[in-house]
Amino acid sequence: MKAIRIHGPRDARLDEIEEPVVTGDDQVKIRIESAGVCGSDLWLYETAPVPDHYRHPAFGESGPHVLGHEMAGRVVLAGRAVTGLAAGDLVAVRPLVADGTCATCRRGETNLCEQRGFVGINGGGGGFSEYVVVPVEQVHRLPAPFTAATGSLVEPLATSWHTVDAVPLTPEDPVLVVGAGPIGIGVLLCLRARGTTRVLVSEPSALRRGLAARWGAEVIDPRETDLARHARAWSERRGVAAAFDCAGAGGEVIGSELRALRPGGHLVVPAEFHARVEIDPTELARHGKRILGSSAYRREDFDAVIRAVADGRLDPTGMITSTIALEDTVAAGLEHLLGAGRDTDIKVLVTAGTSS
Ligand SMILES: [Zn+2]
Repeated sequence: MKAIRIHGPRDARLDEIEEPVVTGDDQVKIRIESAGVCGSDLWLYETAPVPDHYRHPAFGESGPHVLGHEMAGRVVLAGRAVTGLAAGDLVAVRPLVADGTCATCRRGETNLCEQRGFVGINGGGGGFSEYVVVPVEQVHRLPAPFTAATGSLVEPLATSWHTVDAVPLTPEDPVLVVGAGPIGIGVLLCLRARGTTRVLVSEPSALRRGLAARWGAEVIDPRETDLARHARAWSERRGVAAAFDCAGAGGEVIGSELRALRPGGHLVVPAEFHARVEIDPTELARHGKRILGSSAYRREDFDAVIRAVADGRLDPTGMITSTIALEDTVAAGLEHLLGAGRDTDIKVLVTAGTSS
């Protein structure tokens, strides 16, 4: 079968590899119909941080690995012990593999497993290919109105859902979201699905501001507006209940977010930063403000996103800005999003079909 594999920094190739087969009773073989390109795919493509000889304990495979961890498709074959799934069922794969035995897993924080691995990053095949075989424990059946395209958005949305779950919010609480890329838009959609009515989004890209506004957010351009001052004025001078840093911009931004918070407010950080930041810890001490990190998701976050889409509280279709063929993944997906696509796209999906 065809698969996009990482061979080195900025060296991803469309390779012909062995089609995976079901070898265990609990395994499911899925024909991939849609797979999203994630910011971490861009980072893996640019830096190829894992040497080919390294074998992640979750998979025991050396590289080069197939890329793509946001995927949905149709069941083609299920092992003998699999119940509740039939050939043809539309499913999403939860790519995070936790060992279930480390101290962190035993505390229930499987998203932070000490041996955490991802299908599509550390081995086990990946979404930018034709088929994947995974344990049924990682397979979620998708009810109406899911399509393969929206199914491949469950994974990034589960990350956003877990992020929003980090803070207690009432529907009236004003909330600030900094950055309207895929994570930020996901946070906005999850906030909306959970009843939050007032969201202020700060984002320099006009396209992304437009999308956020479409989902009912008030939007500002941080290059033209003082973030902290505007957020405080917008929240009747009380400050926002929570701020979500989905940009990882570094510099002054974190300080502005902290100043925008009301006393006791939460700053949640799902973004990874590539630059150092300076904060004034007195802002935390004097006003009881809190900074929390959030990483990945658990099974229940996948379930919550699927329920929200099924009952109409969450429609992520508008996140999809282009659809490309597997053969075009490098040029129209990875290279494009590292260049001009950064400002013109939110979510690029790779499909089994043709580009559009
Ligand atoms: Zn663990």
